Order: sequence, then structure tokens, then C-alpha cells
Amino acid sequence: MKPAPFAYAKPRSLADAIEQLGRDGEARILAGGQSLIATLNMRLSRPTLLVDINDIPGLDGITLKDGMVEIGALVRHAQAERSETIAKHAPLIAKAIPHIGHPAIRNRGTIGGSIAFADPAAELPACLKALGGEVVIAGARGEHTVKADDFFKGLFETALGAGDVLKAIRMPAATATSRTGFAELARRHGDYALVGLAASAQAKGDALSDIRLAYFGVGATPVRAHKAEAALTRGALDDAVAALAGDLDPPDDVQETGAVKRHLAGVLLRRVAQQLMEAR
Ligand SMILES: Cc1cc2nc3c(=O)[nH]c(=O)nc-3n(C[C@H](O)[C@H](O)[C@H](O)COP(=O)(O)OP(=O)(O)OC[C@H]3O[C@@H](n4cnc5c(N)ncnc54)[C@H](O)[C@@H]3O)c2cc1C
Repeated sequence: MKPAPFAYAKPRSLADAIEQLGRDGEARILAGGQSLIATLNMRLSRPTLLVDINDIPGLDGITLKDGMVEIGALVRHAQAERSETIAKHAPLIAKAIPHIGHPAIRNRGTIGGSIAFADPAAELPACLKALGGEVVIAGARGEHTVKADDFFKGLFETALGAGDVLKAIRMPAATATSRTGFAELARRHGDYALVGLAASAQAKGDALSDIRLAYFGVGATPVRAHKAEAALTRGALDDAVAALAGDLDPPDDVQETGAVKRHLAGVLLRRVAQQLMEAR
């Protein structure tokens, strides 16, 4: 199928993009196009205007400032995969990115697109939640920041308003005591995950504190497993796996039943807990 007709604009500044988005209530942002173009071709979405943000300067930086790593919205997955700053200071992102699609998709797909699209089986939204990160949003009324815990509202639904542009994501830079873990199960490497788990923690001697477990592929948004986090903080791995029954209620979907997904979530927890205990 071909997309329904749409107008196209390629603004050269963020202010211009926001203005164009504000003028047309049915406008959509085009970033890497890896998700949007497919939905247009299948006529799952019919925007009247595409606002292509690829020529806007200043959205493709990766910086370390005041203990935070900031990744611009237009940073491609492949650029992030090669970044020394991300490898050193945001190792959870570095672990997750090779699981996103295939090289061709990672060459075009953007970090901002991945977070804004908010696919419930996507890796990066869960990573941002596991890291206690935040999203920088620019809109008609200026810039504001939303915590990852509050950003993902529902199925493909976020805190972004109609005329908003996701400008960057930020996360605390890793320190000597930071630990991260990542694992997912997919039918083939590069497929969206059946179930995945992104995690962060602080090492305290032999114990872990500040554990954040963010599952993906188990609900409408990335899901924090708070009961399992509490059990793992006590060092009780078996209890943590059992506690997932109270944390996760994955629905059946075309790939698997909810019961199988809950079982797989436990398998992943054991793998990720092992990673959290090791130096990063
Ligand atoms: C075959 C295939 C396999 C894939 N596998 C995976 C996978 O395993 N894991 C995974 O996470 N992803 C996967 N993807 C999706 C890929 O990661 C996309 O790149 C990503 O989801 C969207 O990024 P994009 O830059 O292409 O965004 P686009 O497709 O351009 O946009 C996606 C949506 O986000 C909005 N948007 C984009 N940028 C912004 C912004 N800065 N501010 C506000 N809104 C914005 C758009 O309006 C649109 O609604 C796959 C894609 C394909 C085609």
C-alpha cells in the first residue's frame, strides 16, 4: 500500500518546527522514519503534514555534563552504538542498542524516535526507566523535563503533547559503584523482544541498593517490578523471581501467552541479577 497524501516541511530550526506543528493539528514529526513510514504505508496513521526534523542543528549531540549523560533526539542508534561516551558513562544503553533491529535500521532510527514512539517491546524506553532518566521536551511554551517514570502513559502514549518535540534524553552518568544488567528473549536476534529486562543498581560491598528493574514486552509501557526489586535488595533471588507474579500481569499476545511471558521474566531476572553482581 501507499501512504495517504500528506504535505512535507523540513524546518531548519527547532522554533520553526514547533511553529509548523502548532499550525496543523494532524502534523507528525519525521525522524528516522523506521517506524513512522511503515505506519503511513499501512495507513495506520494519516497525518496531513510531515515535519522532517533531520536538518535541525544541535539535536545530534552526546554530552557528559554535571554528572548526566545527554543524548540528542537525532542521535542514530548506530552513532550511539559507536560512542565512547555512552560506552563509558551509560553502559546500559550500550548493552541494549545491539538488540535493536538490524544495522540498516540502526543507521537511520533515532534515539528520540524510539522514546517518542514508545513501543511497549522496545529496549530504550525500559533502559531510560531503569536508569531513572528524564526526557527534555520543547514546545510552544518553552522547554520542560519529564521523568521517565512519568513519561510513558499507555500503549504508544507518552507525555508529549501534539506540538511538542522530544529534544533529548538524560540519565545519571555511571559511577564506580553503578551496576547495570540487560537481557532479552526474542525469536531471532534483531526481532522485537518477547520479554526483556533492563536494570540498574548501586553496589554496596557485597549487596545491592537502589535496584531498578524495568521490563519490556509485558504490558502497555515499560513496567517496574517493585516487589522483585525489594526482594533482590534483601539478596533473596528466589523470592524476587516469585515476587514477579505480583509485579507483572502480561497479557497474551500473538507471540506468547501471558503465563509463558511471566515464566520468561523470571529466567531473565536470574541472568540480569548475575550481571548486577559483577563489576560493570
Ligand atoms: C524491521 C524493524 C525492526 C525493528 N526492531 C526494533 C527493535 O528490536 N527494537 C526497537 O526498539 N525498535 C525497533 N525498530 C524501530 C526502530 O528502533 C525505530 O527507529 C524507532 O522505533 C523509531 O525511531 P525513528 O527515528 O525511526 O522514528 P520515526 O519512525 O521517524 O518516528 C516514530 C514516531 O515518533 C515520533 N517522533 C520521532 N522523533 C520525535 C521527536 N524527536 N519528538 C517527538 N516525536 C518524535 C514520530 O512522529 C512518530 O510518531 C524496528 C524497526 C524496523 C523497521
